[in-house]
Amino acid sequence: MNAPANGNRNCAIVIGGSIAGLLAARVLAKHYKQVILVERDSFPAVGEHRRGVPQSRHTHGILGSGRNVLEALFPGISDQLVQAGAVPADIVRDIRWCLGGGYLSRFKSGLDGLCASRPLLEGAVRARVKSLPNVLLRENCQVQALIGTSDNSRVIGVKLGGEALSADLVVDAMGRGSRSPQWLDAMGYQKPKEDRVEVDLRYTTRHFRRSPQHSSDDAGIVIEPTLEGKRRGVMLAQEGNRWIVTLSGHFGNYAPPELRGFLDYAKSLPAPYIYNAIRDAEPIDEPVSARFPASVRHRYEHLQRFPGGYLVFGDAISSFNPTYGQGMSVAALQAMELNAALRKGSEELSYHFFARAAKVVDVPWSIAAGSDLRMPEATGQRSAMLKFTNWYIAKLHKAAHTDQALTFAFLNVANLLAPPSSLMHPHLMLRVLWGNWRREKARLRDADLQTIADA
Ligand SMILES: Cc1cc2nc3c(=O)[nH]c(=O)nc-3n(C[C@H](O)[C@H](O)[C@H](O)COP(=O)(O)OP(=O)(O)OC[C@H]3O[C@@H](n4cnc5c(N)ncnc54)[C@H](O)[C@@H]3O)c2cc1C
Repeated sequence: MNAPANGNRNCAIVIGGSIAGLLAARVLAKHYKQVILVERDSFPAVGEHRRGVPQSRHTHGILGSGRNVLEALFPGISDQLVQAGAVPADIVRDIRWCLGGGYLSRFKSGLDGLCASRPLLEGAVRARVKSLPNVLLRENCQVQALIGTSDNSRVIGVKLGGEALSADLVVDAMGRGSRSPQWLDAMGYQKPKEDRVEVDLRYTTRHFRRSPQHSSDDAGIVIEPTLEGKRRGVMLAQEGNRWIVTLSGHFGNYAPPELRGFLDYAKSLPAPYIYNAIRDAEPIDEPVSARFPASVRHRYEHLQRFPGGYLVFGDAISSFNPTYGQGMSVAALQAMELNAALRKGSEELSYHFFARAAKVVDVPWSIAAGSDLRMPEATGQRSAMLKFTNWYIAKLHKAAHTDQALTFAFLNVANLLAPPSSLMHPHLMLRVLWGNWRREKARLRDADLQTIADA
């Protein structure tokens, strides 16, 4: 992918060395003579946690779309991760999906997934970015402010303590805590409007030894909550022969960290699979918890004025309820859009990039916010269309328990490989109606038989 830089593209600075920053740096390296990635943490060895990314201690799934982009940007990275212990998985066959009170049908699908810890994944990406000859990673450097031209029409660098670094482009990949709204305000620009869906989510995560009887079996399970229970469980195989288990709940339905309470919570999920797998398994480390109050989306694409030489990227634009596992894949898809916007030229780069990034965000946002708004406690706008969509998806899940085509279509959308509108294809709608009609017929027949038996 590397090609000579052109025009006034001498130096780009990326603020933040997490997944989004690393992916942005990878793409910028193709278009700029030099890329400097500035991270406030020190970079640990591959596979180790660091302070700036506390979420790395929790389950991190990479979606099919994200994995495809990683492979395109870093050829061979999936094999490299598998050699380091990551567990390859067919997303449909090897991972159980418990939705709508049952399991989606399972079969070999060709949707390739990879189960790995977040530190392993990030460390592998970092190593590949570090090996690029025109990328410099600077650790232990916190950006304090932007440097603008005298009229603030352009960003021309950043301040790092007493040091000033100049650049033709600065990219904010500072994550959910991004300072861009404040920095823009200080430069005389409007802050972007914010969309917000309050979800009051709490994660509790533990690791368990993955016993031999599980090792050759499933690579993971996702148990979606019922509306009443609001309790979710995810268990994924990880390198080092471990399970990572994250139990999460909304609006007070939180999983306790201590082992007994954690197991009881697992037992209360809509399916017993996780409980059965961990009740006698060896807990490996201490539990960790995290709070996630709301999904947030900054509407940079709606701003009328924006300084030249500056972009915002990844979670700094939008951070979603993490239970849908979208953040890293959205950053990956944005990296491809950044590449496309840069190919168009440097003129009005922010306009082109934010328009493209917004299209990337629209789909996962509609999936996450749309689904969360089924909970009466979640705050946000509910249109008639949203209510219909949620009703339809619930019916689709039930029909997909026995219908491979529906399972495949749904998981393609959940993995950001197909748009949600694809689920409304008349061919699939007929299957949903037919599947639910058959279920209802079977239910009535069973009820009749019961009545005869009781008579
Ligand atoms: C509990 C939880 C679970 C999640 N699970 C998943 C999942 O299963 N799948 C998935 O795809 N995503 C998941 N996510 C989201 C995922 O972690 C992010 O989308 C991903 O890390 C990309 O974010 P980012 O790089 O934009 O920001 P972050 O990962 O937040 O990184 C921001 C970086 O910027 C650095 N930084 C901040 N300010 C400065 C500064 N001033 N100067 C220099 N450096 C700075 C920080 O140290 C950090 O390294 C989860 C998130 C949470 C909270």
